[in-house]
Amino acid sequence: MKINTTTFLTSVREFGKLPKETFPEVAFVGRSNVGKSSLLNSLTGSRIAKTSHTPGKTRLINFFTVNEQFYFVDLPGYGFAVGDKGERAAWERTVGGYVAERSTLHGVLILLDSRHFILPNDEEAVIWIESLHKPYIIVLTKADKLKQSERSKTASEAKQYFSGRPLCRGSLFYSSQTGAGKKELLQAIETLLIEYHGANIEDEHII
Ligand code: GDP
Repeated sequence: MKINTTTFLTSVREFGKLPKETFPEVAFVGRSNVGKSSLLNSLTGSRIAKTSHTPGKTRLINFFTVNEQFYFVDLPGYGFAVGDKGERAAWERTVGGYVAERSTLHGVLILLDSRHFILPNDEEAVIWIESLHKPYIIVLTKADKLKQSERSKTASEAKQYFSGRPLCRGSLFYSSQTGAGKKELLQAIETLLIEYHGANIEDEHII
């Protein structure tokens, strides 16, 4: 798959204000500062997403139209200060409502910092996406920061952790700085977009 055009569609703060379900979409989620904005910019070859130095401050769901065919959906980052129940509840309301209810959502890209692999709140996010029956891809970000030995260690940890999790459609390393992993990630996204959407299987389309 090649990305030719990416345009900003809209930003919404509340679940009730989402744009109409039209194109298939994939959503990107991860801890604040995981490198999500950088990845979106690098993947699309444009500066659509803002890279921020104020972790946790963005509470918006951003929609981008890609190739006039599908949407990339940039979800707010998680990873709040311990005890920040208000922030957490707001995140769960917005993101939870979106992921649970959006019938055009084909899958979620869960971003993990490759230097830490999986932290407790990442595990919560994975388990939570699984509980909503959404397929997902694991993207290990900032891969350029790893030495070869660290990369091998993380790769085997990821393999072990995600094998036996049927909703996980694969994991890969990505570097927004070098572009490494871009081809593989685009391929994985294409597979998610083509994959017959689980929500539809239950309806009248099934024979
Ligand atoms: P977000 O909060 O998840 O959107 O993260 P950002 O994209 O704003 O990135 C957070 C920080 O990590 C910034 O200082 C980026 O320059 C840096 N960063 C993001 N991706 C990479 C990467 O692939 N390699 C390196 N070396 N730094 C990165």
